[in-house]
Amino acid sequence: MKWVVQQVPENGLHHWLSDMNTFPCTQCGLCCQYVHLAEETRFLDRGDGVCGHYDAATKGCSIYDERPDICQVGKQYELNYRNRYTWDEFVSINLRVCQQLSEGDLADTP
Ligand code: SF4
Ligand code: SF4
Repeated sequence: MKWVVQQVPENGLHHWLSDMNTFPCTQCGLCCQYVHLAEETRFLDRGDGVCGHYDAATKGCSIYDERPDICQVGKQYELNYRNRYTWDEFVSINLRVCQQLSEGDLADTP
């Protein structure tokens, strides 16, 4: 599993808003439940792969306003990926990971 960014759910609403675009998130909450799969998000693991800030009742983030930078897709794009990908390419790469999670396809995880 190779994440480009981590998801940004907002108390069950899962808004992915950047300055210019919106990430087409289906609000499934899966990426917050597999933070152990990426080195960049492993520090959030509560011990079972789920982020310690994940709210299962809402499938949202309990610290949305203070969530880490890695969880902010627009910020990650601006800081680390703008020079390598267009926004549409960046979205496409991330959506592939969403798809893998939804299909339980974790075969290439570390
Ligand atoms: S896995 Fe993808 S679709 Fe599901 S909540 Fe995360 S970003 Fe949204
Ligand atoms: S901090 Fe919030 S947005 Fe980031 S992985 Fe945890 S629950 Fe998800």
